[in-house]
Amino acid sequence: MPNGDASLTDKIDVTVPSVARMYDYLLDGKDNYPADRSATEELLLTVPSMKVLALNNRQFLRRVVRVLAEEYGIKQFVDHGSGLPTQDNVHEIAQRVHPDARVVYTDIDPIVLAHGRALLEQNENTAVLQADFRDTKSIWESPEVKRLINPDEPVAALFVSVLHCIKDADAPDAVIQRVRDRLRPGSFLVVCQLVSEDPDVRRQVTEFMAQETGDHWGQVRRESDVAHYLRGTELLEPGLVEVSTWQQNSDLALEQPSYEWIEFGGVGRIV
Ligand code: SAM
Repeated sequence: MPNGDASLTDKIDVTVPSVARMYDYLLDGKDNYPADRSATEELLLTVPSMKVLALNNRQFLRRVVRVLAEEYGIKQFVDHGSGLPTQDNVHEIAQRVHPDARVVYTDIDPIVLAHGRALLEQNENTAVLQADFRDTKSIWESPEVKRLINPDEPVAALFVSVLHCIKDADAPDAVIQRVRDRLRPGSFLVVCQLVSEDPDVRRQVTEFMAQETGDHWGQVRRESDVAHYLRGTELLEPGLVEVSTWQQNSDLALEQPSYEWIEFGGVGRIV
């Protein structure tokens, strides 16, 4: 491990691919290991569009945070499944607009905590928490959230490219609704996940990822599932879309090589 907290490294099994490190490899990061790289290369043989999809997903996240901070005055973010630090993390974007913006990063993977502490906890307004986003209470009642997030002000709760990491048995809809119940009107839910309308693609990718990650993965779903998670919210324009097209203006989106599976979602305002 190039950097990081030595006390956490013994919790990290680098022989089993991790979603966080595979995603880091797709984003050209350096916090990944041979097992992550070979699983990702194998995945790319089945679904070559994965790399562009990951890069476009990260651009979507950057645009959303900028728009929420600039146009809706959002200064508080809770990022569920934040992934390893990369270029332009949520707090960097938000604090460019509001220097006092506050961000709590959470991820289940200990590597995020190990690497993230140095790069994500850059000031008193950011914190990194190792937590499972299925456990809403442990995140929202954590000392980090209590210290940084004021429940009387609007918050953006981010679930960007993470819900496909949990299974239907883990009730992703209930996870979203529990978080929503904790947020005051004017807050936002940001949700996107891998979807496909082709049952064969859904099955193949789900099986491949379950096998590679020792069953630490969820499932590819359908567009209608994402719509269900955000029901009753006011969707910001242009609604629910393939994420590279969400409020796409100045950023250069890479062209999706194929649409057999896509990252699909949007931003819902709680009314
Ligand atoms: N949200 C970031 C983004 O869009 O750039 C990272 C997305 S990455 C594809 C998925 C992340 O979700 C990984 O870092 C993984 O460790 C994390 N994750 C998976 N299951 C999780 C869970 N149950 N609780 C918290 N984090 C989880």
